[in-house]
Amino acid sequence: MFSLPELPYAYDALAPVISERTMHFHHDKHHAAYVKTTNELLQKAGKTAADLESVIADSAKASERKLFNNAAQAWNHAFFWAAMSPARAAPEGELKGAIDKAFGDLAGLKTAFTTGGVDQFGSGWVWLVADADGALRVLSTHDADDFVSLTKPTPLIVCDVWEHAYYLDHQNDRKAYLEAWFDAAPNWAFAASQFAAAKGQGEAWRYPAPVAQSQERAA
Ligand code: MN
Repeated sequence: MFSLPELPYAYDALAPVISERTMHFHHDKHHAAYVKTTNELLQKAGKTAADLESVIADSAKASERKLFNNAAQAWNHAFFWAAMSPARAAPEGELKGAIDKAFGDLAGLKTAFTTGGVDQFGSGWVWLVADADGALRVLSTHDADDFVSLTKPTPLIVCDVWEHAYYLDHQNDRKAYLEAWFDAAPNWAFAASQFAAAKGQGEAWRYPAPVAQSQERAA
């Protein structure tokens, strides 16, 4: 059984970019439902999973769309929470150097990231990703699509551009949401650790491991 990870900060920590009300709906309802449905679908199929990453990769390969969509959304949201922080720090060191190289400066990245999110038609996500050679790119993905099943680049930060992520706080103004989000919300320390992992130094973020089968039986 996969669990719903707790938010790594208070529900109001990212206000006003993401209000306490949005955070409760988003984490406690949307994210919780993706985790619950993933567990139900796995149980119904009699499957045991070692980790969420393999559930996503296997369901993508087998074209099990419902399982894929729910497992990938469970993953994407947990990554989204981890990739945000109320600390308002700026990128430093090697990550800053890579941002400057790819985008000119942080403002250049903000423009690319905001444009990527605004241009994503419909629901999806906008990501800053790193290739193994340390090159950075902004990519957007549709619906539940993610970088576990797509494999290649390592995600550093992500912003949810589904309407449920911003409608209560910014109504239809996705651009204003993205601009405010970029200035206040990214967890650049987390991004730096993901950047190092992309280049083979340390481990990239993974979804919390499921509760072991033996523990489930005992419970
Ligand atoms: Mn969402």
